[in-house]
Amino acid sequence: MDIQNDAVVTIAYTLKDDDGNVIDSSEGHGDFAYLHGHENIVPGLEEALAGKSAGDSVSASVVPEKAYGPRNEELVFSVARSRMPDDVDLEIGMEFRAQAQDGQEMIVSVAGIEDDSVTLDGNHPLAGRTLNFDVDVKDVRAATPEEIDHGHVHGPGGHHHHE
Ligand code: ZN
Repeated sequence: MDIQNDAVVTIAYTLKDDDGNVIDSSEGHGDFAYLHGHENIVPGLEEALAGKSAGDSVSASVVPEKAYGPRNEELVFSVARSRMPDDVDLEIGMEFRAQAQDGQEMIVSVAGIEDDSVTLDGNHPLAGRTLNFDVDVKDVRAATPEEIDHGHVHGPGGHHHHE
């Protein structure tokens, strides 16, 4: 079966940045299974995998627009240090849940620590970055109606929430 919408695809992958540093890898976690066509993975990787089948190897360089989007500098802002929880030692890169002005919950990371203020960044950590994937396609099968209904894979490499 070729990779197409509503296929369950099992892959081993390595994700590197443009300098060759490994950002993420399935190695050590076991193979990863996703449901094709349901936004389980970034659009650029889905495009690169469409039409492939088990045994294929795919290298894809995915631009930010087809991954986590460009960085938005408007999501970088300062808050008074007194507004941060005082029971944590602030560190660069630390992540917090915050509420945006429109009421939506967002994850922000600490980008800077000043004497009486803290700079927070609401961008996804991989926003603005090109993602270089090396993927081995291990298995492709048709999804079950339940998996399509849930929008994710059940069983090995996927969700286990009702087993
Ligand atoms: Zn489910």
